[in-house]
Amino acid sequence: MELLSPAGNFEKLKAAVLFGADAVFMGGPAFGLRANAGNFTFDEMEEAFKYLHERGKKGYVTVNIYPQTHELNDIAKYLKTCEQLGADALIISDPGIFSIVKQEGIKTPVSISTQANTTNLAAVNFWADLGAKRVIMAREVRREDLVEIIKNAKCEVETFIHGAICISMSGRCLISSYMTGKDANNGECTHPCRWSYSLMEETRQGEYYPVYEDERGTYLYNSKDLCLLDRIGELVKMGSSSGKIEGRMKSIMYVSIVTGVYRQAINAAMKDADNYKPLPKWRSLLESVSNRGYIEGFYGGEYDAKAINRETSGYSRAAAFLGVATSDSKNNELELTCRAKFAPNEEITILTPDLNEIKVSPELILDEGGNKIDATRPNYIYKIPFKDTAPAGSLIMRF
Ligand code: SF4
Repeated sequence: MELLSPAGNFEKLKAAVLFGADAVFMGGPAFGLRANAGNFTFDEMEEAFKYLHERGKKGYVTVNIYPQTHELNDIAKYLKTCEQLGADALIISDPGIFSIVKQEGIKTPVSISTQANTTNLAAVNFWADLGAKRVIMAREVRREDLVEIIKNAKCEVETFIHGAICISMSGRCLISSYMTGKDANNGECTHPCRWSYSLMEETRQGEYYPVYEDERGTYLYNSKDLCLLDRIGELVKMGSSSGKIEGRMKSIMYVSIVTGVYRQAINAAMKDADNYKPLPKWRSLLESVSNRGYIEGFYGGEYDAKAINRETSGYSRAAAFLGVATSDSKNNELELTCRAKFAPNEEITILTPDLNEIKVSPELILDEGGNKIDATRPNYIYKIPFKDTAPAGSLIMRF
């Protein structure tokens, strides 16, 4: 099973590769569903594919909006450019865009996006008969059906293993359009399903009545996040072609840690799927990154009131992201780019791509001029004494 990670920008792409992704998915300059992610220019895409292919990795481009007719004008040229730049697959939802790929003779394989809401075997084979190389299943599919689908599919089947879940059917949702005029189906979702709501009687402006589902809150549609860590052995046994991590808008720390955990999980499952058991360390690392609480979603057949986080619409996170190692440690030193403040003698953790957690309390921190400083500042480069070994890209964290 391939491990497929999100690449919101080039830095995150490199982090995903370093922590073990086999492939990444990214948005180009248009037609993708994350208008607010970093996304890639054509020049960056070319560089990204070169970077990936030199390392035996793959890059898939999301072209998964549902366009209106007037938005289709430049699509053929856009798709051909993605092919020429070296995309390993185009991720498409709209049958119109799919047909344009075929009409234009574009040879890049097509994956049918989860946005197309493919929920059953007949629909998978419908796309396969039309020439899709892979179908990314809707997150609404339960385990028993997935077994049947993968066994009888005429094409590859990709499954989500980790990340946010929409309360609507895989993002086919108009809440954001109603509330803010930003269309989720064009990559602009403002996530109003996560907001806190009140009730106001029209003539009593400003008097807000809380909308309680129970005493804890009003976040009626705030779904917890998907986590199928316990199910990786099952998915490998089923023959899922690819396990996808959601989150092109998430941080480098998120991409690195979630990728690193599932890399080790998939490796363990590929070795011995029958006896696959996640390590407690993997679970605690997943708890250390931003999440809304974890569920197995529809996979286990239970998506009910417990799947909603009514406590808060924010994220919980057990660790702070302090920086990234800029080069391999050497001469008993580690150089890092700072992301958040820390001070000498504070205990910090260096997390390497193979998930080795090295705890240190550096007695001094040096700036680029070699001066001792009292506390770091974001976006500056520093050196700390470090006797262990950590490659460039290792994370600096505080638990
Ligand atoms: S508003 Fe919520 S449910 Fe709707 S598309 Fe956005 S994230 Fe998904």
